[in-house]
Order: sequence, then structure tokens, then C-alpha cells
Amino acid sequence: MSQIDTLPPLRQVIADHELSARKSLGQNFLLDLNLTSKIARQAGDLSECDVLEIGPGPGGLTRGLLAEGARRVLAVEKDTRCLPALNEIAEAYPDRLMVINADALKLDPSDQLVPPIRVASNLPYNVGTELLIRWLTPPSWPPFWQSLTLMFQREVAERIVAKPGSKAYGRLAVLAAWRSDAKIAMHLPPDAFTPPPKVSSAVVHLDALPEPRYPAELKQLETVVARAFNQRRKMLRAALKGMAPDIEDRLIAAGIKPTDRAETVDLEQFCTLSRILNT
Ligand code: SAM
Repeated sequence: MSQIDTLPPLRQVIADHELSARKSLGQNFLLDLNLTSKIARQAGDLSECDVLEIGPGPGGLTRGLLAEGARRVLAVEKDTRCLPALNEIAEAYPDRLMVINADALKLDPSDQLVPPIRVASNLPYNVGTELLIRWLTPPSWPPFWQSLTLMFQREVAERIVAKPGSKAYGRLAVLAAWRSDAKIAMHLPPDAFTPPPKVSSAVVHLDALPEPRYPAELKQLETVVARAFNQRRKMLRAALKGMAPDIEDRLIAAGIKPTDRAETVDLEQFCTLSRILNT
């Protein structure tokens, strides 16, 4: 394994700081620095960017991001045990790494970063999904971030990039496609992590669109899509029954057959329907 920096190997860092992985914090660490550099490269050119990293743990991806030239990294880690290891990285990269000890679900540090901002994280999956939805649904658009490069359970990654007509297609795919270009950038087997999780993982990369792909009001679109997919086996005229007395007419006006199911409706149709339901 080639050396990406002058810091000790991650296994040694973990041993020195007694960072045994905690299940309660979703800790599955990446210890191969070549792999973390490769993930960092999926985030694009970092040299002119501030990077927000949530959940740096012992710092494998952090080191990858810095070695790949990130202008600055702001890392938010909940586990205090990781702070000494992260401080060692900060010393090796003067003025380029700031570490905040906080729960990322309770603290939004985006105002501490200078645009352009990219987000890169290997997070516990549940936290990752919640943050992804928050990052895709700010009150105004464009968001604070230019791109998101995030690790997910493979099945969740497939739901983010899914196309109409597939089983994985649902709320996440509609939201992601509305406001970003989303793709799976890498697949990782369980044994890429220590300890290995039960399932495979994938890195998803999302580039923020300058404006949503089709006009729609966020809350209305979210409501329509949530209702449509909450009863995904039902025909839309039934699933969306409570939304308007003349729902069948409105579906037809949006170019959707009332007997269709949510799974077959594409993003443009959902956006048209949400505008028609707003009138
Ligand atoms: N990024 C490291 C890596 O790739 O080896 C660690 C990845 S591990 C899957 C997830 C990390 O997120 C852990 O260090 C955990 O302590 C941290 N974490 C979990 N929940 C968090 C939260 N709500 N806010 C900030 N960090 C969190």
C-alpha cells in the first residue's frame, strides 16, 4: 500500500487511541488509505473547495480528502474518542482541518464554510439518509453545497438513483432527480470496512442542479410523492383520492392515467401534477 501522508497507518491509530468500533454509532471504518483517496476523488476537484465531512471517525476519509488537495475540511464527529486522532491529522495539515465534536443531526455547520462547498462522508446509513433528505430540501435553492459524495447501503444507493418502472423507484429517487444529477460512483464489498457490515455499500455522487429540473413547489411535490408511494400498489386515483375531489381530471391534465401506479410516473409528470394540484 502506498503512503498518502506521513501519519501512522489507520490500524495503528485505532490501536493507539483504543477506537474499538461501536455499533450504536454505526462505526464501520475504512482503513485502506488508497481506497479513501479513491472515494475522495469521486467528489471532484477539491482544490478550490471547502469540504464538509460528517462522521470522520479515526480519519481515513479525512486523510484521503486532504491528500487529494481539499482547500479545507470541516469534520463533524459525535464520538469524543476520535478527537485525539483527528487532532493529529489537523497538525499534519496546518489550517486545513477543523474538527467539531457534535451530533450532525443537531448542528448545521454550513455557515462556517466558504463556497464552493462539497460534502463527502462515510456515515451510518440511517444518519446519511436523513441528512441527504435535509440537504435536498432546504427552503431555497441552490443549496449551500455544490456536490454530495456519500456512502450508503447498496440498496439505499439504488433507491437514490432509481428510474421509473423499477422496484427501487420512490420518494428518494424523485427528490434526488428533481434537484440533482445523481449516480452511483463506486461499489464496495462488506470487507472494505472494519468491522464488515452485513451488506454491500455504494458511494453515491450528487451534483446540485442550478435550479430544479422542472418547476414545482417543494412542499406540494413532497406531499404528492409521499402519498403516491405510501400506497404504491394502489392506482393513483385511489392513492391520491383525498388530495382533490376531481383528482381523476387533474391526473389526466398532468398526462397521467388515473389507473397508473406511482412506480410508472416520471419526475416531469409528478412536477406537473403538483403544480396542477396547487391551482
Ligand atoms: N468516516 C470514517 C471512515 O470512513 O472510516 C468513519 C465511518 S463510520 C461508518 C461513521 C462515523 O460517523 C463514526 O465515526 C461515528 O462515530 C460517526 N457518527 C455517527 N453518528 C453521527 C452523528 N449523528 N453526527 C456525527 N457523527 C456521527
